[in-house]
Amino acid sequence: MNLCDFVPENIRSIQPYQPGKPISELAREMGLSEDSIIKLASNENPLGVSPLALDAMMNAMPDIALYPDGSGFELKAALSRCHDVKAEQIVLGNGSNDVLDLAARIFLKPGASAVYSQHAFAVYPLVIQIAGANGIQVPAQEYGHDLPAILDAIQPETRMVFIANPNNPTGTLSSVDDLYRFIERVSRDILIVLDEAYYEYLPEINKSNSIQWLKEFPNLVITRTFSKIYGLAGVRIGFAIAHPDIADLMNRVRQPFNVSSIGLIGALAALDDNEFVQKSFALNRAGMLQLTDGFRKLGLEFIPSSGNFISFRIDGDAANTPKVYQSLLRQGVIVRPLGIYEMPHHLRVTVGLAAENERFLNALQYTLGELV
Ligand SMILES: *Cc1c(COP(=O)(O)O)cnc(C)c1O
Repeated sequence: MNLCDFVPENIRSIQPYQPGKPISELAREMGLSEDSIIKLASNENPLGVSPLALDAMMNAMPDIALYPDGSGFELKAALSRCHDVKAEQIVLGNGSNDVLDLAARIFLKPGASAVYSQHAFAVYPLVIQIAGANGIQVPAQEYGHDLPAILDAIQPETRMVFIANPNNPTGTLSSVDDLYRFIERVSRDILIVLDEAYYEYLPEINKSNSIQWLKEFPNLVITRTFSKIYGLAGVRIGFAIAHPDIADLMNRVRQPFNVSSIGLIGALAALDDNEFVQKSFALNRAGMLQLTDGFRKLGLEFIPSSGNFISFRIDGDAANTPKVYQSLLRQGVIVRPLGIYEMPHHLRVTVGLAAENERFLNALQYTLGELV
């Protein structure tokens, strides 16, 4: 249709984001029952949702005819207590993807550029492209962010740098010291987005005190989410913490009711559910060991991960990797192919319950037998 020719080229050339295959879709395609399928493809919490959050959300259901509190007053108050920041520093989003987009929309325009790492989270190039700016992708080092190279890649017109720590889909983590030194060296007129979606999965020793750094670096924005350890991916809620001036601009650009009432209530309750967070953390550690042990036994290389997922490599012809993905699907196990991340030999699996990890490893062993 001719009308679409008037749509700017940066929009028309967007490659659609490929989410993990939904259970319902695989059930339809393969004629499997939904109960027989396990999805280890989207880094969701295998324990489900925080029970405190679920309870609060169920109780709030009768009120969903009303618009949510567009300012998110209560959740922001709780987050500001919890992180020792002012409420004016917080921006709530429809998932943290939403706040990544808001940051790009206020800082980028055609002619500007933003820097990110090879193999970094796919949403960064997406929001850069939507804003009409140029993405500068910096080659990764051992699959992780090469921070000195990222510094060197910054151009006069660069307005933003995206850092995922840990990164998805590689699970790589920059050390707290390296990260701090990097932030120190970035010019104060460039926004640094530090995406810490998996922060709660880090052992204490690896946790940055990034929120403290905000006092020193007004050009820093930290993003966190309720989608991962809190188990609220389906209600879409995340947030950014930034300098009040930046948060103010992001809040002006966001849709007035970008976060749902159920999301606000679920997140507020989830923040108090330490028991659930601790249980999820411990399950993830044990599951990660189970998976890495399994990969070693199968002779598969993997990228050591600091998240709730891990990427492993299928050797030989790159055509083997989609074969393994398809074979796992036929056995009712959904993982994530990483072709769009320039990692055609790798698949990413989310750490599941012990029985799910075992089923995945058994299916993988069967699949590798089929390949030879
Ligand atoms: C999952 C993930 C997010 C969170 O996305 P939401 O929109 O909050 O669900 C953000 N960044 C990275 C790197 C992720 O993997």
